Amino acid sequence: MLYIDGQWTHSQSGEQLEVTNPATGEVIEKVAKGGAGDSKLAIEAADRSFSDWKKLAAKERGAYLVKTAEILRGKADELAELVTKEMGKPLKESKGEVNLAIDYLDWYAEEAKRVYGETIPASHPSKRLHVFKEPVGVTAAVTPWNFPVAMITRKIAPALAAGCPVVVKPASSTPLSAIKVFEAFHEAGLPKGVANLLIGSASKVVGEMMSSPKVKKITFTGSTEVGKKLIRDSADTVKKVSMELGGHAPFIVFEDADLDLAVDSVIGSKFRNAGQTCICTNRIYVQESIAEEFSKRFVDKVQALAIGNGLADGVEIGPLIDEGAVEKVEEQIQDAQEKGAVVLCGGKRTQVNGQQGGSFFEPTVLGQATDDMVITREETFGPVAPIYTFSTEEEAIERANHPQYGLAAYAFTKDLSRSYRLMEGLEYGIIGLNDPIPTTAQAPFGGMKESGTGREGGRQGIEEYLEDKFVSIGNI
Ligand code: NAP
Repeated sequence: MLYIDGQWTHSQSGEQLEVTNPATGEVIEKVAKGGAGDSKLAIEAADRSFSDWKKLAAKERGAYLVKTAEILRGKADELAELVTKEMGKPLKESKGEVNLAIDYLDWYAEEAKRVYGETIPASHPSKRLHVFKEPVGVTAAVTPWNFPVAMITRKIAPALAAGCPVVVKPASSTPLSAIKVFEAFHEAGLPKGVANLLIGSASKVVGEMMSSPKVKKITFTGSTEVGKKLIRDSADTVKKVSMELGGHAPFIVFEDADLDLAVDSVIGSKFRNAGQTCICTNRIYVQESIAEEFSKRFVDKVQALAIGNGLADGVEIGPLIDEGAVEKVEEQIQDAQEKGAVVLCGGKRTQVNGQQGGSFFEPTVLGQATDDMVITREETFGPVAPIYTFSTEEEAIERANHPQYGLAAYAFTKDLSRSYRLMEGLEYGIIGLNDPIPTTAQAPFGGMKESGTGREGGRQGIEEYLEDKFVSIGNI
């Protein structure tokens, strides 16, 4: 069902969308598939709700977020199971994602109260200069499948906190967890029109959002390719834009690093969500003197990772989202092998319990990776870890910086001076120093270069939904 103007509704066309479990290939649910007409209705409802919503006291807007968070906390296990069923990640990771999603609601319920304006000293005694913060207006939010709950609350929570109504389109492969989030908003009594859910054709639903002059802001998380298209589409109506796009994270291990910590950390960073996260490690750079020992310890641990249906106990690697994702991984491995890489473990698609239908791929380590390989430049979005070696710190930083992407980078070292050189030399929006999991609700998340523009999370996240209105008062 779609959620428009406070009501659950079928799509105007009556068309439906099938949702598939990537671990089994089975259709688990059919949901309404919306189009341009549904999108228009949702935008109009959001627009009607704007004047009342922005006038509510920030504390009252925050209270709706707190209530929604409470409801979701009560349904966290059910929601986590749904995430695993529709996109495959291990249940433990789905629980982690649901907690993070709730954190964004709680955080922005508080941040709503801290939208401070400014008073600027004037150059003339008879003048007063003020900056007021105002909500941008109706916000369109388009989200991916790899974090189907957290990517939604990371956008809705700051938008609503700032006073902006939203129209949301989740990925077509993961609409079920989005529906659960909206059920919670409904149960929390959110005024009608303030949050609307559109599931369906990306070109029609998002096309309507992009062409509508009523939509003042587009916030998108997804591939760089689609993000660039939306930036172009937003030009005609000059929308405010936030883009959380692709990444290609380097993970640098220096010879002075705690090797056990580095190995455990890269396992988490690379293989979480079967390698399908925007900030997951895409390239591992290891200093020559420790490369052999690192590879040995790493491969031993990768070989021990349990593959399977994410709902089963102990599973650490679930399926990839679909057959296309498996093929992309196969192509990158084949290209790397042709250019001299050696498969140290894994390397092929696999089945679980002899079952047909799931899109599983073995966690894979490639040795002797080189800079001319496709995997060195293109986002993998799968469980493949290429290892490169380097000799000096300068070389590591230079090769770690990517010409196109600048989302996340990781470095492991115990040297404080080197740590500062890394923080300053790495051209990335997020840096994990001896930390493989930097994401948290209270910190800004986002990329440089073609990894995007704008930030989500932290006090910075709410600014994306606010305008500065400058008022100059004369003749005082
Ligand atoms: P995607 O193909 O770009 O899709 C993302 C969203 O855009 C989906 O809702 C999709 O709808 C919609 N979409 C697709 N084509 C569109 C079009 N032509 N016009 C308008 N909307 C369109 O990305 P994905 O495969 O879902 O997600 C993986 C990508 O997201 C990776 O590149 C990853 O790095 C990136 N990501 C970035 C972050 C970050 O914070 N920087 C976080 C997570 C993921 P349909 O599903 O209906 O096609």
